[in-house]
Amino acid sequence: MKKAVAVFLILVLAVISCTAVAETAITLENVRDYIVGLDEPMELADGTSRPIINFDNAATTPALQPVMDEVNAKLAKYGSIGRGYSLKSNYSTELYYETRDKVMEFVGADPELHLAFYVNNTTDGLNKLASALITSKDDVVLCTRMEHHANDLSWRERCKVIYAEVDKQGRIIYEDIERMLKENKVKYVAVTAASNVTGYVTDVHRIAKLAHQYGAQIVVDGAQIVAHRAFSMKGETPEEDIDFFVFSAHKMYSPFGGGAVVGIEEVLNDHMPTFYGGGMVELVSDKEVSWKSAPERYEAGSPNYPGVVGLGKAIEILQEVGFDAIQAHEQKLIHRLIDGLKKLPNVVLYGDCENVDDRVGVVSFNFSDINSMMLATRLAQVGAATRRGAFCAHPYVWRLLGVADEDVVTFEGCIDAKTPGMIRASFGIYNTEAEVDEFLEMLQKAMEHVKNNLTDKDEDIPQEY
Ligand code: PMP
Repeated sequence: MKKAVAVFLILVLAVISCTAVAETAITLENVRDYIVGLDEPMELADGTSRPIINFDNAATTPALQPVMDEVNAKLAKYGSIGRGYSLKSNYSTELYYETRDKVMEFVGADPELHLAFYVNNTTDGLNKLASALITSKDDVVLCTRMEHHANDLSWRERCKVIYAEVDKQGRIIYEDIERMLKENKVKYVAVTAASNVTGYVTDVHRIAKLAHQYGAQIVVDGAQIVAHRAFSMKGETPEEDIDFFVFSAHKMYSPFGGGAVVGIEEVLNDHMPTFYGGGMVELVSDKEVSWKSAPERYEAGSPNYPGVVGLGKAIEILQEVGFDAIQAHEQKLIHRLIDGLKKLPNVVLYGDCENVDDRVGVVSFNFSDINSMMLATRLAQVGAATRRGAFCAHPYVWRLLGVADEDVVTFEGCIDAKTPGMIRASFGIYNTEAEVDEFLEMLQKAMEHVKNNLTDKDEDIPQEY
């Protein structure tokens, strides 16, 4: 009898421990349970408090709790990476290297061809890459007018940059890319995988094929694609493969810094970034330096361990949720928001709002009779997070607004209400249709508020485009 009770107890304990160990899979349906700070009440302008609706995910995303947990857990075994003689150092170094493989697999890199080096964010990655790849002021880089400043200025400040135009709806003109490749000796084509202003997804494989046909290589800014759509550096044919891909972890629910550049090993080893320090050298004498090969030569300084751990976990979770589901969900949110906005008086929507299949979850808009800065400020006061301005993509935004280049110089200082801009709502995997509906209600009230509270002083503030 005693034996039977003991066996029963053991079975019960086994079931309990199995249940505790089995982690619930993260899906779109339950992901809100894992977003850090989702229910955090914030004090509003009227003194009440509520959790905010966060539609500013294109700027940065909140943390996922499992990412935080993973970072915490792995900090227990933290030691200096690639430098220490300790068990913790060995452990951390191994994890750091293993995560490179995860990154490579995540972006469909070819281990025979590519390697990954870690960076602080996309801006850091693009600058490091440009500092290495550009060897003369006369090098020619072909960008587009859709680029974020990170993928424009990092080249513009180092060499000659030519720009393919966007059409009236803001899409890249692919024919322009081909024409410019034909007419110029282009070394690199640098293009974004998805726009942070309109959400347009670029056909980077089509551009890769063109670039390769004319002897150039392609660098893709992946900041806005990695948390939204499955991405692979591999094209349908080898000519369509991507040469360099750069992205940030903080836009994929791991706000510890971190990100990566994945690129052609041979090319990376033929160049040097202009960023120097420990960890990237074999040997230094009074006069000579011998450099390690890539990836180390691109990673001077002590690595960002939490950034790498968080990135690895974020990749796992996004893959678990699944990009098909994410894309379908985002499409629903975009449609709902655009449909709701269209019903509001004097709305101006940017980008193609009829066919949104090639857009990730970003919707930028204005009202022709309301200043966007005042409206976004009011939205923030009542608990809706958006972004307002020209989103570090000024040339693109001026084009969408219809502002001529000669007028741009007249409104320096992008934080002034007199500077034209737009409001951007951008979605994360955890946003819901109910939030879109609530946002639309808040927006209408905020519009009324701004209109009714204009003072004489405000009257010379221009309405938007
Ligand atoms: N490229 C694009 C398209 C972006 O949206 C951003 C961030 N807004 C960046 C580059 C720069 O990313 P980070 O701030 O992480 O360097």
